[in-house]
Amino acid sequence: MEQERIIEKLKEIGFETVAPLDVNTLEALQEVRDMCAVNTCGMYEKRWSCPPGCGTIEECAARMKKYSNGLILQTVGDIEDSFDFEGIMEVSKLHGDRFLNVMGEVKNWLSDYMILGAGACRKCKECTYPDAPCRFPEEAMSSMEANGLFVSDVCRKNNVAYNYGEGKMCYTGCLLFND
Ligand code: SF4
Repeated sequence: MEQERIIEKLKEIGFETVAPLDVNTLEALQEVRDMCAVNTCGMYEKRWSCPPGCGTIEECAARMKKYSNGLILQTVGDIEDSFDFEGIMEVSKLHGDRFLNVMGEVKNWLSDYMILGAGACRKCKECTYPDAPCRFPEEAMSSMEANGLFVSDVCRKNNVAYNYGEGKMCYTGCLLFND
C-alpha cells in the first residue's frame, strides 16, 4: 500500500499526528536503556517487550536499521494540569488502544514492518517472561524507549512537536516499514 494511503488509514484510527520519520534519525542509545533500568514504570525485567528481554542495544539498533520508511504517530489529549493523573491515564489508554488497532490492521497494508508504541506490551495479561518464549512474537509490541530511542530527540529531528504545552498530554510511537 502507498504511504499516502497508510497515512490516511492511521488518521482514520484517530492519531492526532501522523508525520514522516527519517529513519536515519533513529539512534539507539544505551543511556535511554539505563533510564529503563531505573524502573520508574515497573516493567523492567517484566515483559519480553522491555529491557533486557527485548535484546541488547546493538540488537535493537540492527532491527530498526532494516527499515527504510517511518511514520511518527501521536495521541494528543486534554488534561486539567500535570497532576491530573486520571486524565493522563485516559490519554495513555487511548494511545495504547490505537496501537492495538494498528497492530490488528497493519498486516493488511504492509508485509514488512515494526511497530514501536509507548510502554510495555499489553497483549497478554500475564507475560511469559522470562520462563517461556513470548506467546505472540508477531504481535508483541515494544516501545521507542525500550529500543533506546530518545523520543523527544526523534521528534525534534523530524520537526514534530513533543510537548504540546499546558493542558495537553502527548504520547508518541512509530511505525517502521519497507515498501
Ligand atoms: S505478547 Fe504476551 S508473552 Fe509476548 S511480550 Fe507481549 S505480553 Fe509478553
